[in-house]
Amino acid sequence: MMSIKRTFLRLALLTPFLALKVSQASEAIYQPKAQLVTQSVYAIVGPLGQRSEANAGLNANYGFIVTSSGVILIDSGASAFSAAMLERAVKEVTPKPIRWVLNTGSQDHRWLGNDYFTKRGAEVHAMANTVKTQKAVFQQQLQGLERFVGQQLKGTAALQANQVHPAPEKAWTIDGVRIQWIETNAHYPGDTMIYLPEASVVFTGDLVYVDRILGVLPQSNVRKAQAAFQRLVSLHPKHIVPGHGRVTDLPQAKRETGDYYDYLITNVGAAARNMDSIGETLDKFANPKQFMHLQNFSDLHRPNMNRVFVDFEANP
Ligand SMILES: [Zn+2]
Repeated sequence: MMSIKRTFLRLALLTPFLALKVSQASEAIYQPKAQLVTQSVYAIVGPLGQRSEANAGLNANYGFIVTSSGVILIDSGASAFSAAMLERAVKEVTPKPIRWVLNTGSQDHRWLGNDYFTKRGAEVHAMANTVKTQKAVFQQQLQGLERFVGQQLKGTAALQANQVHPAPEKAWTIDGVRIQWIETNAHYPGDTMIYLPEASVVFTGDLVYVDRILGVLPQSNVRKAQAAFQRLVSLHPKHIVPGHGRVTDLPQAKRETGDYYDYLITNVGAAARNMDSIGETLDKFANPKQFMHLQNFSDLHRPNMNRVFVDFEANP
């Protein structure tokens, strides 16, 4: 009941801003393009802004690994339409078919292309808790996404993985490529990261954001994110493909994400535990110089603090 009411409210609030769509019309059309990370590992880095028709909802990062007999694709796009765009970006690198799709998480743009690739013969893999969240959120996601991408959603079916792996961790090999799959539970419950030990690459999913500030949602868990970030550090990866932002290394990921989780927990979380006033706390920690250059800072930092405060108040 609560969530239906909330959806309605959001729709009602958004309707007067349909004019926004007009200004988005001038946004450049985004064409996904593969970039080499190392060896046979590629990243497709999406734009940092909101979902739109111009970016087809691909405002996140993707990746793929070329194996001897095919391609492993990491995350499947926001619709059948955008899945085809990812497929074209892969085709520019190799004629091999996409045989495996792995979902790192349950946000719309991580998995709503599953059906497209399944129809073309791919196996779709996900961890059990990712699938659980996908099943819980897909109706709301489709509704929300339609407001941003409109007709591009046509022909999209919300199809979960056909190969589900038990949480919290799985080590396996696909066509000679070793994979360590690790739950993070950072942005959404059941979120994961994918570690490729031979290439020393981690696809972090929405555990790591660089260049833009991360968002703490009501369903995010900064404590689990902090623990998962420590796990990421312990892997000593040379290359990090974050959930959002450029392909990077551990120091930048730490400065722009790991340190931010620490900042929220040690300042805002501690103030909530201490039963300080929420208003004074949010004012006191409003201007952390080390994070203010990140895109979306002025929109997200205060709501992020708010959610961490409420979380730590309820679960000290
Ligand atoms: Zn994301």
